[in-house]
Amino acid sequence: MLAKKRIALVAHDFRKMDLVGWVEYNWRSLLKHDLVCTGTTGRLVSETIERKRATEGGASAPKSNIKLLKSGPLGGDQQLGAMIAEGTVDAVIFFWDPMSPQPHDVDVKALLRIAVVYNIPMACNRSTADFMISSPLFDRAYEPIVKDYSAYIQRKVEKEEEA
Ligand code: PGA
Repeated sequence: MLAKKRIALVAHDFRKMDLVGWVEYNWRSLLKHDLVCTGTTGRLVSETIERKRATEGGASAPKSNIKLLKSGPLGGDQQLGAMIAEGTVDAVIFFWDPMSPQPHDVDVKALLRIAVVYNIPMACNRSTADFMISSPLFDRAYEPIVKDYSAYIQRKVEKEEEA
């Protein structure tokens, strides 16, 4: 991944204000990168960054570049998972809610899983997000070591073994 990254921001409803607070604090650092968000989270993130630019003299800062996906329960988490599998997302900040059942629970689980498969940095709470954004690697090129899955890809399945 390059110094300028594409960072995904997602928060469940009861964690959205936590993410907004985190973005309010870190908006200048986030502007150095491209962002991708699920629908509702993206609207809030965009409004937050634009408000900060307007009130804190950030007019000369680059405009935020936010790609909006579908809302999470309508497929946004799956879109994000696909982007990770295709290598077009470098890091994920995902404030998922540990206290509420989600209609798209299986999609949430899939997103968490695929980020681990591709060794994508993923922060699931505010402290980890703080550690991530204050890491020197956040603004530097970095190559995550992805496990070698070639043996899995080339494995023989039942029918091939019989042949
Ligand atoms: P939302 O989706 O940003 O559209 O609310 C969040 C989620 O993935 O649950």
